[in-house]
Amino acid sequence: MTQHHHPENDDSYASLSVNSGVAQPPSVNPYAARRPKRKPLPTAGELVEGILRGDITMLSRAVTLVESLSPVHQAIAQEVIEKCLPHSGRSRRIGITGVPGAGKSTSIDVFGLHVLRGGGKLAVLAIDPSSERTKGSILGDKTRMEKLSQHPGAFIRPSPSAGSLGGVARKTRETIVLCEAAGYDNIFVETVGVGQSETAVHSMVDFFLLIQLAGTGDELQGIKRGIMEMADGIVINKADGDNIGPAQLAQAQFRSALHLFPPTASGWKPEVLTYSGYFELGIPEVWDMIDRYFRFTEDNGYFLHKRREQARWWMRESIDEALRGNFYGDPAVETMLVGLEHDVMADRRSSFTAAREVLDYYFNKNNLR
Ligand code: GDP
Repeated sequence: MTQHHHPENDDSYASLSVNSGVAQPPSVNPYAARRPKRKPLPTAGELVEGILRGDITMLSRAVTLVESLSPVHQAIAQEVIEKCLPHSGRSRRIGITGVPGAGKSTSIDVFGLHVLRGGGKLAVLAIDPSSERTKGSILGDKTRMEKLSQHPGAFIRPSPSAGSLGGVARKTRETIVLCEAAGYDNIFVETVGVGQSETAVHSMVDFFLLIQLAGTGDELQGIKRGIMEMADGIVINKADGDNIGPAQLAQAQFRSALHLFPPTASGWKPEVLTYSGYFELGIPEVWDMIDRYFRFTEDNGYFLHKRREQARWWMRESIDEALRGNFYGDPAVETMLVGLEHDVMADRRSSFTAAREVLDYYFNKNNLR
C-alpha cells in the first residue's frame, strides 16, 4: 500500500504511518439494486381480516405499524386496534419479571411449552425500555426461547424499542389487543425486574409472577418492596442440585415476609413456590397456582374489576401522554424551556413563575383560556 502525504508520516512519528485507502470496488452484486420494491402497505381492513384469521404475517405487520412512529402507520394501526377490540379480551395475561440472570427466558420456554400442551396459542411480548440503548433487545429475542420459537402456536415479539417507558408500554398493551383478536389465549409479558417497567406491566396483566433466586446471601436484599407487593406469585428458580436447600430456605423467608404485607385487593394470598426451569422440575405446580388464581378471581369478580380499572388507567395514561407530547413537541416551548431552566438554575427566577410563564404562553397560543 502506498503512503501518501500526511503529517503523521513525518519522521518524528517513526512508529506510525498513514496509508492511502483502496479505491471503491465495483458493486459486489450489480443485481442487488434491482430487488423488488417493498410490499405496499396493507389497508386496515386487510390487516384486520388477516388477524382474525390468525395469520401470523398479518399480525406481525400490524404490530410493526403499532410500533412505528410514522403518523401514516399510526393512523392505520389505530384503525386496526379499534376494529380488533371487540374480538379481544379473551386471554390470560400473565406478567413475568425477574432480574437479569434469574432465568426468565429459560422459564418462559418451559412454561410456554407446558401451557401449549393444553392446546391454544401463546404470545410472548416484552417491555424493555432499555433495549434502544443496548441495541438488539435483551428481551424477547427469539433465540433465547429456542423450543418455544419453533412451536407453531407461539408468537414471540421483542420489546418495541423506541421511546419512553410509557410509550413502549402502550405499544405492548395495544399489541395484546391484536394478539387476542388473532386467537392467542395466553399472553406472557416479560420485563426485567429492576425498575419502573413493573408498574407498567402490572397495569396490563391479570397475574404477576416474580422469579427470584436463592443463595445470594440475604434473600430479601435488593428486592424492591414495591415489586414484591405487586406479585401474585413468587417462584424461586434453579431449585436443583445443591441449590435445593437454599431455595427452600428462601421460600420460607419469602413466605414470612409476605405475611407482613397488607392483604391484596383481590383477596388472593400470594404463594411462594420453588422450581427449576432448566431441569423442568415443579413446572405443573407453578401452573396449577396460576390456574387457581384465575378461578379464584373469576369467582369473586376481581378479574373483571381489575380489567375495567386497567382500561380506565390506560385511558388516563393515553391522555397524559398525548398532552405531554403536544406541549413538549412545540418548538417555541422547547426554546422557552431552555432559557427558563437556565434562569431557574441560576436562581434568577423561581420554578413556579417559570412554569407559569411557559404554560401561559402555551395556553394562550392554543386558545385554551
Ligand atoms: P434471564 O436473563 O432472566 O432471561 O435468564 P436466562 O434464562 O438467560 O438464564 C440465566 C442463566 O441461568 C443461564 O445460564 C441458564 O442456563 C441458567 N438457568 C436458568 N434456569 C435455570 C435452572 O432452573 N437451574 C439452573 N441451575 N440454571 C438455570
